[in-house]
Amino acid sequence: MPDKHPRPERPHLLLACHECDLVSDIMIRQDGEWHQCPRCHHALLRPAQNDQLTPALAFTALILLALSLAFPYIAFEQSGLERAMTVTDAASELAIYHHPLLAVIVIATIIVIPAFYLLSVCWIHLSLAARQHLPGSLMLARWLPRLQPWMMADVFAIAALVSLVKIIAMAHVQLLEAFWTFTGYALLLLITVTRMNTISLWQRLLGTLLQPLGTRPGLTAQAQGLIGCAWCGQLQPLGQHHCLRCSSPLHERHPFTLQRVWALLITSIIACFPAHLYPIMVTTSLGQSDPSTIIGGVMLFLDHGDWPIALVIFTASVLVPFGKIFAISWLCIAASRRNHTLDMASQMRLYRVTEWIGRWSMIDVFVVAIIVGLFQLGNILTIEPGFGGLAFSAVVIFTMLAALQFDPRLIWDQQQSPTTSPLKPETTA
Ligand SMILES: [Zn+2]
Ligand SMILES: [Zn+2]
Repeated sequence: MPDKHPRPERPHLLLACHECDLVSDIMIRQDGEWHQCPRCHHALLRPAQNDQLTPALAFTALILLALSLAFPYIAFEQSGLERAMTVTDAASELAIYHHPLLAVIVIATIIVIPAFYLLSVCWIHLSLAARQHLPGSLMLARWLPRLQPWMMADVFAIAALVSLVKIIAMAHVQLLEAFWTFTGYALLLLITVTRMNTISLWQRLLGTLLQPLGTRPGLTAQAQGLIGCAWCGQLQPLGQHHCLRCSSPLHERHPFTLQRVWALLITSIIACFPAHLYPIMVTTSLGQSDPSTIIGGVMLFLDHGDWPIALVIFTASVLVPFGKIFAISWLCIAASRRNHTLDMASQMRLYRVTEWIGRWSMIDVFVVAIIVGLFQLGNILTIEPGFGGLAFSAVVIFTMLAALQFDPRLIWDQQQSPTTSPLKPETTA
């Protein structure tokens, strides 16, 4: 029986910004516009969009992934010898060459984690359509945002294009069925992720947010003895370790946050040495071995005149990791002292670029995985992975963990508290 007198939903929501802690009073609109934090311009909330399209996209992506695993990916022919590889060959050949950890990283980031994410999206939307919490749906909703940074199907698709430039110089290449289905899967995965807004999702799963009495917009949550859940948005008293609404861990400013970030940064700096000193791959042709480091690979592309690819590899493998280490170190210093030279807008830009760009450094590791998966011609030509690839993956993973661990609210805490006059949230299309 439909309710004749439905309870009018509160048109306003009080949300604490995940990045600067300012509490905003948001008027919910249904036009698909993002609500931005007035202080740091972080995208706070996007109202729920077309209910059916997101699971449909996720389901199609899963079908494309299944097809990508069933068909060959790339084939090449050289001096009468032919070989075709599947997507999983990119990982299995690494395992054969005694790099099981690297194989697990490749298979987890391009297949297992994205497949789990897409299945979760379908299951949660089934739960929403059934208007009941199907088993595990709340737990999966808690996991979704944590999985997001570790899905790298799009990075692998770009790495395949970079590899092609390298392979075309050596052999006649053919793009097979799985190349197109995998590219489609990577694209649909990206669109599905951009459509998933965690706070909106929790609103639909658990109803509208509870608004603590006396909460004032325009002040930080901490100044009011509150903490906002980064995942479902619920404001609650400080001191809770888990959200009262969605049970996710709450991120209070921990006194050891910066120490943890520094520890992760130092680990990644240490891993930089073997990553650049050891070969990333070893080419063996007619009994002659030719090891190649990351910088060696860049120089090789330059020698062949492929400077755009040399630039991509140099940016992804050298500039980005070192730039990230420098940027996060800078942010840590800024978060621990009041007088620093960069203005807040520049610091937040630096933080967001650092957070976004990190996983793109995996391009070179995926290029090696694809080339090793493809070039297995026995004595004539064999390409093996080198220890540099594993060390470089460690650099990428540790810098990503450092960026994820960094709490941008610490930078804002060094600022004067915002005025008590409520700042109006902004909306953008
Ligand atoms: Zn903010
Ligand atoms: Zn929560």
